[in-house]
Amino acid sequence: MFDQILDALETFPLFLYGFTFVLSLLVGSFLNVVIYRLPVMMQNEWDCDCRELLADELKKTKAKEATPFNLAVPESHCPKCKHKVKPWQNIPVISYLLLKGKCGNCNTPISLRYPAIELLTAIASLTVVMVVGFSPQAPVLILLTWLFVALIFIDIDHMLLPDQITQPALWLVIISSIWGVFLSPKDAIIGAASGYMFLWVVFWGFKLVTGKDGMGYGDFKLMAVVGGVVGVIQLPMVILLSSAVGAVIGLSMMAFSKADRTTHIPFGPYIAIAGWITMLWGDGILAWYLRVFV
Ligand SMILES: [Zn+2]
Repeated sequence: MFDQILDALETFPLFLYGFTFVLSLLVGSFLNVVIYRLPVMMQNEWDCDCRELLADELKKTKAKEATPFNLAVPESHCPKCKHKVKPWQNIPVISYLLLKGKCGNCNTPISLRYPAIELLTAIASLTVVMVVGFSPQAPVLILLTWLFVALIFIDIDHMLLPDQITQPALWLVIISSIWGVFLSPKDAIIGAASGYMFLWVVFWGFKLVTGKDGMGYGDFKLMAVVGGVVGVIQLPMVILLSSAVGAVIGLSMMAFSKADRTTHIPFGPYIAIAGWITMLWGDGILAWYLRVFV
């Protein structure tokens, strides 16, 4: 059964594309849960840790531990009327359209962000298989795409790149180098360490000069993931691209909203977007650059 599916994925590109698209839509739906709940779970854990440390409000801690809150429990429900989302109301994108963007019970509007994240996940994953085809790179890049989507939106919401996501991503990259999926283990480790160290140096330089925190340690870890895939040679391209992505997004935010130059903008999404572009098209971009400028 499994072999037959793999065979079909290899033989029929349209099946590969359709399979990736539908699977990623479903994953996108789950990523919505991760994006919303993981930061809350982390906050709860910190609260509990702090209370235990202070040996204070022990009852409250116990109450919080008694009501489980994780990625599976409680089941998805309307935040307003607590109406449980039925299976047919939980189909990515389609349910949103069927429900006309409202809770089936109390008509509270559902944020357009949920179907948008599902579609984004599916389209980005589809792009991956259209670029790399049926190859050892495809599953790793698709997994990284999913993790990046979660990181981008958690960073936008909370200015935070959770270790729970950056670390599995880094392990994935390092382990896949055993089979040389992108780079040899040596090059992957050098790339990852260089990515981390480069931003670390920039961070401390910026901090010593301006006294401000421009980035967080999560950004370094994310850059390590990217460096482990693209290698040290293409890291400068990632930095340049993320500045370009940052400038485009920052300027359009200033033009269209109340954001000004002092608005704190998370850096993670720029690294994730620039890193993703370089993972897919880095060789082509580098070849083009060398042809035009060297
Ligand atoms: Zn409702």
